[in-house]
Amino acid sequence: MDEIAPRKINYLRLSVTDRCNLRCVYCTYWQDWQKLPATEIMRYEELLRLAAIAAQNGISKVRVTGGEPLVRRGVVDFLRQLHQVPGVTKVCLTTNGVLLRELAPDLYDTGLRHLNISLDTLRRERYRQITGRDNLAAVLGGLERAASLGFHPIKINCVVLKGINDDEVLDLARLAQDRPFQVRFIELMPTVSQEWWRRHFWPINEVHRRLTRLGPLIPAGQEPAAGPAINFHAPEFKGEIGLISTRDGHHCPNCNRLRLTADGKLRPCLLSQAEFDLKGLLRLGLGDDVLAYLFQEAMELKFNRARVSPELSLLPSWPMVSVGG
Ligand code: SAM
Repeated sequence: MDEIAPRKINYLRLSVTDRCNLRCVYCTYWQDWQKLPATEIMRYEELLRLAAIAAQNGISKVRVTGGEPLVRRGVVDFLRQLHQVPGVTKVCLTTNGVLLRELAPDLYDTGLRHLNISLDTLRRERYRQITGRDNLAAVLGGLERAASLGFHPIKINCVVLKGINDDEVLDLARLAQDRPFQVRFIELMPTVSQEWWRRHFWPINEVHRRLTRLGPLIPAGQEPAAGPAINFHAPEFKGEIGLISTRDGHHCPNCNRLRLTADGKLRPCLLSQAEFDLKGLLRLGLGDDVLAYLFQEAMELKFNRARVSPELSLLPSWPMVSVGG
């Protein structure tokens, strides 16, 4: 077992749905993956109760994700209420951006400012090839609208796929040239078939090498508990470039996050199958003290294993769409 890591588990990622309006090749690889029955998806009042319990137990940052969170009806009101939960000081949203153009003003009104937008290509046909949908214009429109409304920070997440979009790394990085965006390149995680992963995995050091064509990359100061990204400034860029390796585990000892799946399973580690069935207990009528105990247990599991995954992970075992990336 690795050494005990000094850290605070203060970040919860809430998946509000397993539904998505895209069919990204690396995310929905599971042919026999079944959508959750609607009754299995956590209701908003249940999520708010768990968020409040989590906040009483040290969570201060909550990210709403999915599936695609913006396809779930009522998500704007939910975000508004999440901002009111005592102890939750930072609310963030991860979205594919398809519905952002129309929803951005309402989202801004909720108090939301932190946006992560997933975008792997700037080419229409390629976008359709990766996501299965012809929605690039909508996403770019959403990004523009969000920027003009004043969302900040806006982080753009690009999964780099060898032989599919690796030739676009510089173009994607240049989204951060004139705007204060953070463009983050992410290694493909093995939540796909071994064969597909081997064919399309492109290591982050290769991405870094390609990016040096922009000029010398200067390491940017890390925010405390900034997450897995290592950030850089490129010459004359207003924004930053982030690199996220998903393999080497360098982030594990500092990982400060828990995940709650759309069906209410609390997971201490993205790469582990360990989970606590909070929805089951909540619907049995158990009290806040029991649920709080399970948050503490999940935190304890992270504390006591700097890296939770190696002994427990059985990848590939689930598509990202179901656990919330
Ligand atoms: N629908 C939202 C979105 O697109 O941002 C939120 C959920 S999505 C599962 C969250 C992120 O996980 C996306 O940025 C997606 O690219 C990333 N993702 C999904 N599968 C992945 C994989 N196998 N490797 C790396 N990133 C992955």
